[in-house]
Amino acid sequence: MATLNQAPASGGHIHVHVSRKIFPAVGERDAQLVLRDVSFTVEPRSFLVMTGPSGCGKSTLLNIIAGLDKDFQGEIDLGSGKDRLTYIFQSPRLLPWRTVQENIALVLPDGDPRHAKIPEMLSRVGLSQAANAYPERLSLGMQRRAALARGFILEPEILLMDEPFVSLDDPTAQSLRELLMELWHGQPTTVIFITHDRAEAVQLGTRILRMAPGQASVVQDVPVTLTDAERRDRSAIAAAQARIFQTT
Ligand code: ADP
Ligand code: MG
Repeated sequence: MATLNQAPASGGHIHVHVSRKIFPAVGERDAQLVLRDVSFTVEPRSFLVMTGPSGCGKSTLLNIIAGLDKDFQGEIDLGSGKDRLTYIFQSPRLLPWRTVQENIALVLPDGDPRHAKIPEMLSRVGLSQAANAYPERLSLGMQRRAALARGFILEPEILLMDEPFVSLDDPTAQSLRELLMELWHGQPTTVIFITHDRAEAVQLGTRILRMAPGQASVVQDVPVTLTDAERRDRSAIAAAQARIFQTT
């Protein structure tokens, strides 16, 4: 029997290898080992969630992956995705003196054909009526919808998100998670999403990497095999959460 060749590697994979990340001593503060022997590969168009309590090194790792922090031992390989990478931060980071529509247009070069897709993108995220509003007139939930629109209009190969839905009331956070799932299904891209919220991790991720306080490392790497319907069902999420996080 002939052996099937594996499909050629397409863009969007991420190889992470951080052997050490140390923040040096500053004044009274001792040097701190924040990451140690963290190695994993993210498959193209998968949705990886990194979770763990505050201070365990999630943002530090994401900044290294994004290329924002180069002061570490190890290597990051983003393949072709390094030029098609979008980072959505905890704060929506919209320019206050630009309208919603202008904030989205700003990330595209002049004359780029994706400008024509902005009205449709605004409609997908439910902001058509707010296109000409300035960010300060919007609720935090709406600002975060705008940040998602600005991220997805770029059609990134790699999308990094650091706790993009914190500080929202539960219904608003839930509607943003559903919106994110919808956008991702419409435009599959390799995602690394950070959250300290375990239910959110289970609802969104196709795989969860868990970090623990003081470990400076990944302590658990587990696939999440829920169906789309189950991801909208609180009891299915709670059951999967109990299964995945049973070790603590
Ligand atoms: P998380 O995102 O999981 O909450 P961080 O990656 O922000 O955690 O931080 C991990 C650890 O590194 C924390 O103890 C934090 O105090 C420390 N840290 C983060 N950034 C810096 C920095 N620029 N200088 C020194 N220490 C830092
Ligand atoms: Mg953080």
